[in-house]
Amino acid sequence: MFNRTDKAISAVALVDSFKETMNKSTVYRILDRLEEDGIIHAFNDTDGLKWYARCKGCKDGKHTDDHPHFKCTHCGSMECLPVAIQIPSVQEYTIQSSEVILVGECADCFS
Ligand SMILES: [Zn+2]
Ligand SMILES: [Zn+2]
Ligand SMILES: [Zn+2]
Repeated sequence: MFNRTDKAISAVALVDSFKETMNKSTVYRILDRLEEDGIIHAFNDTDGLKWYARCKGCKDGKHTDDHPHFKCTHCGSMECLPVAIQIPSVQEYTIQSSEVILVGECADCFS
C-alpha cells in the first residue's frame, strides 16, 4: 500500500484502489488504525483533500512528522520532503503542530 516511502497517496485514490475488495468505511478504518499505530500520517492539502504517507521513525501513535509536503502542480503527485520545518514561536500562543504544503514542480517534471 505504501511501498514508496516518500510518496503520499490521497484518500480518494486509496478508496478507489480497494473498491473491488473493501468498502469505503473499511478502508478508512484501516487507515485510522495505521495512523494510530504510527505507520502512516495524514494531512490535508490546499484543496482540503486528505492524503496519507508512510512515517519514518514514528512509534505507537507518537507522530514526529514535522516535515513539509510537496505538491506538484504538473503531475499532481504529493510527497514528503526530508527537511525539518522551523515552527515559529508566537508569544502567548501554544503551537502544537504545523502543516506546510509547498507547491511547485517535482523532480520528475522539472527536466
Ligand atoms: Zn508519523
Ligand atoms: Zn510532477
Ligand atoms: Zn509526510
